[in-house]
This record gives sequence, C-alpha cells and structure tokens, in this order.
Amino acid sequence: LSSKNDKEKGVNVQVILRCRPLSEEEESLRMPAVISCNEMKREVSAIQNFGNKQIDKTFVFDKVFGPTSQQLDLFNQSISPIVDEVLEGFNCTIFAYGQTGTGKTYTMEGGKKAKHGEFTSDAGVIPRSVRLIFESLEAQCADYSMKVSFLELYNEEITDLLAPDELKLSDDKSKKPIALMEDGKGGVFVRGLEEEIVCSASEIYKILDRGSAKRRTAETLLNKQSSRSHSIFSIIIHIKEVTPEGEELIKIGKLNLVDLAGSENISRSGAREGRAREAGEINKSLLTLGRVINALVEHIGHIPYRESKLTRLLRDSLGGKTKTCIIATISPSIQCLEETLSTLDYAHRAK
Ligand code: ADP
Ligand code: MG
Repeated sequence: LSSKNDKEKGVNVQVILRCRPLSEEEESLRMPAVISCNEMKREVSAIQNFGNKQIDKTFVFDKVFGPTSQQLDLFNQSISPIVDEVLEGFNCTIFAYGQTGTGKTYTMEGGKKAKHGEFTSDAGVIPRSVRLIFESLEAQCADYSMKVSFLELYNEEITDLLAPDELKLSDDKSKKPIALMEDGKGGVFVRGLEEEIVCSASEIYKILDRGSAKRRTAETLLNKQSSRSHSIFSIIIHIKEVTPEGEELIKIGKLNLVDLAGSENISRSGAREGRAREAGEINKSLLTLGRVINALVEHIGHIPYRESKLTRLLRDSLGGKTKTCIIATISPSIQCLEETLSTLDYAHRAK
C-alpha cells in the first residue's frame, strides 16, 4: 500500500520506521551493522550471510528514517501534520513500538541532552508536539483549554502517574485499583484518572517529569521494569470557535503519545517462573494492538478493541476519523537481527 492509496481508501494509519545508529559500545566491539535504510525509496533491508544461511529481506514503509536522521526531521515530516489534525478536533495516537534499547523513549521524549523547556536538538516527539500545539493556538489567538493525563499500563493494570498519593509498598494493597469503565455510548473512561488543567508548555514539561519520576519510583519499589509497561500521555484540547452566524462551536482534539512495552516480550514468551503471566499480558496488549491496526487497515468489520486494556483505552483514538502513527524502532546491530526482523514484520503487517 502506498501512502497515496491509503489516503484514497481513507485509511489513516501511517507506519514509519526508524533505525538508530550503532551505540558507542557496539562501535567499540566492532559489531557489524546488518540494516541498511534507503530513505528515498522508503525501504529497509536486513542483509546478512551466516555461511549456511542467507538473510536478505526488504520492507517498504510510509517513511524511513535512517541512523543519521534528526529528531527535527522526523517531527516535521511525520508528526506535525498529526498535531494539526488534533487542533482541527480529531483524536490521534502516536505509538513507539520496538525492542528495548532501540530508541522508543529517545524518539518520544528525547535524548540525554534534552531538558524539557530548554529545547535541544535531541528533544523528542512529546516536547515538540507540546511546543507546536501552544505555538499554533497562540498564533490563532484561539480560545482554548487544555488538560493532560499520564498513565501506565502494567500487567493489564492501570497506574495513574499523576495521582497525588505517594506510592508505598505497604499501602499498595489498600490502594483502589483504577478501573476502566464503559460510558454506555461505546466509549471508555478511566475512573478516577487525574486530568490536570494546563496553560503553558512549561507546565506540561513539569507534569511529564513528575509522572516519569513516579514511574521510576514505582518500578524500584515493585521491582518492575519499564520495558514491560506501556505509558500513555494524553493531551486533550478544547477550542471554542464562533461561526460567522454567531454560533458557538467547541472542537475537541486529543493526542495520545504511547511508549509501548519492549516488543521482545512478544517473542520471548517469558517462560521464567513468575514472569509468565506478565509476559502473557504484555503479549496480549501488543498482539491485540497489531490485530486492531491490521483490521483497520484491511477494513475488516470486526475490530477486536475489547481484547486488551491498551486497545480499550485507546478505542476513541483508533479507527474512524482518527489518525494513527506507529513509529517502529530498530537497531542496526547484528546482535538484534532476530528481534529486528520480528519488528519489521509486525510493523509491516500494520501497514
Ligand atoms: P527504548 O526506549 O526503546 O528502550 P532508548 O530510547 O532508551 O530505547 O534508547 C537506547 C539508547 O540508544 C539510549 O542511550 C538512546 O539515547 C540511544 N538512542 C536511541 N535512538 C537513538 C537515535 N536515533 N540517535 C541517537 N541515539 C539514540
Ligand atoms: Mg524506553
């Protein structure tokens, strides 16, 4: 499917691929790179000769960003049109999908240099989207209000990363689980989820930092690993407009920014004791997400939203008039080849 065909068919799922550079460590170990990216042709190839076995596979995506690609290019080419849709009153979702260590968080949040507020070249999709949203609203002199929420999904359980209570292990049992409720109109809402009203980009950066800190604390206390959880940061914008006839109109747009659990959890079934359930649940969300997106792209009538919490949570932002972007991240290193091939496969099926 080409992007043009997608548009004609009214499919609003875009799959982009990003390959990170070899890390310093991989360089120093002289690890061979087995991935080549052709940005012009939107192609990614995995080529390796193992003597008895030869791998030579090429995949085409809506966009390909090679190891030297910059955060700014990815944002300008693929993300800013989505932010524009949100400002027009649509719900959109951007996912980062890939093996742990391939750049999901780098792509979504930014690199080490990136400090929220103090903009650096390695600032990622989230701070850049926030900045663009405020710049656009200010430029339009829009009458708007905005709120954000930030949650984590681990083992099919939701944690509100903005809830004011300090998470303590002893309290954990008494803590009411946050429930996902049906609203009776086909939608879903999270009961008790904190939604904070924000008025500036710097406020959002502070909230993001607070949520990320809470995520880290919870990880240490409960021995969790962020590679096993999904995080969803949502920005909801209400824009008031007055029609030429003097009628008031409210446009509501929502942007979900999702850093998914490491995709290695899909393939390695986590057979180790105690990890089995966890792996199963992570699988469920990632596999269901793949099936939902596939059903949307293929125009299959039944879309299995209900089969995982992740897809239930994002239901109002997947399909219909919404725009979805999956950024699949891979490593060029030979060590990761097996996982890379499974990521390419998953992402390609979503196209
Ligand atoms: P993930 O979130 O998928 O586990 P990270 O985003 O933490 O992976 O990335 C792993 C490491 O690779 C980090 O040190 C990050 O800064 C670096 N990295 C990832 N992608 C890139 C990129 N495109 N350019 C430069 N460094 C990157
Ligand atoms: Mg990460």
